[in-house]
Amino acid sequence: MINVRCNVGAILLDGKKMAQDIRKELKSRVQSLADERGRRPGLAVLMAGDDPASKIYVRNKIKACEDLNIYSELHALPHDVPQADMLILIRELNARDNIDGIMVQLPLPPHLPAAEVTETINPDKDVDGLHPLTMGKLLLGQETFLPCTPMGILEILRRSDTRISGKEAVIIGRSSIVGKPLALLLLKEDATVTICHSKTENISGVARRADILVVAAGRPEMVTEDFVKEGAVVIDVGINRVGGTIVGDVNFREAGKKASAITPVPGGVGPLTIAMLMRNTVRSAEMRLARQAVIMHPNPGGG
Ligand code: NDP
Repeated sequence: MINVRCNVGAILLDGKKMAQDIRKELKSRVQSLADERGRRPGLAVLMAGDDPASKIYVRNKIKACEDLNIYSELHALPHDVPQADMLILIRELNARDNIDGIMVQLPLPPHLPAAEVTETINPDKDVDGLHPLTMGKLLLGQETFLPCTPMGILEILRRSDTRISGKEAVIIGRSSIVGKPLALLLLKEDATVTICHSKTENISGVARRADILVVAAGRPEMVTEDFVKEGAVVIDVGINRVGGTIVGDVNFREAGKKASAITPVPGGVGPLTIAMLMRNTVRSAEMRLARQAVIMHPNPGGG
């Protein structure tokens, strides 16, 4: 890829451009499915309530589907949707042939338990990678869908030729959707991984050990120059709305003075997260259609 230096000295890891490249790759896979198997991949997106940030994320996902010619359905449910209704809808979507992926936009209103909702999704359609079975397989190193944000971060590191094996990776944040699964993925790539959280002592000192520093804390610009080792690769996952603008968890200007490469916010991890959701949906369709083909023609060419 072309390396663009930003005005702080570090190379800018342009997630928007990387996501465009991935979409190009996916477009031809979507076309092949339509040509060879007779249908497009299908994604169902569910949201409950009208959280403004969730609305934007969901709109971006539907738009990405449209760009790729992936069939999509948005189920925008009222804030007070009964849990039973939501689970019935998910079971219906589980049974539908033209739906390959189901994702539920988090956070959910307090009366809807995210764990129970996520567990209702058929793991074969768990393109967001958050079902307990999916997580368990990830822990065991088995083939499975990978959660989109951690997978997107890995993709940024690969596409920027960042060496992972043997390197010190520090992740700030231990959530189940970012920090923990990312730690497993980086461990699989032979990094030495440390996870920090709100109780970590001397967090800037721990962060300064990192060759690869990933920040997913949801704290606007908490990572200053002091957290960054000279030459580190810094990945900013945070999306924080501050006074009408969006900022990351990293103070870009300060961290960029010491980092060798850094992601911007917006335009870093966010576009990759959506691209990975698209990739998981296409992969799910490919696998499901291949299985159906085997069921219909169990012994191709045989007597
Ligand atoms: P959570 O709130 O679930 O988790 C935040 C984590 O950060 C927790 O583990 C928490 O520690 C830790 N933390 C909070 N404050 C501090 C602190 N001062 N020092 C050290 N650790 C701290 O957040 P998510 O993982 O869901 O999201 C994190 C950020 O990433 C948010 O800004 C979110 O909007 C963004 N995000 C962006 C995505 C994208 O596509 N770009 C996708 C998903 C999230 P503890 O466990 O001790 O409470």
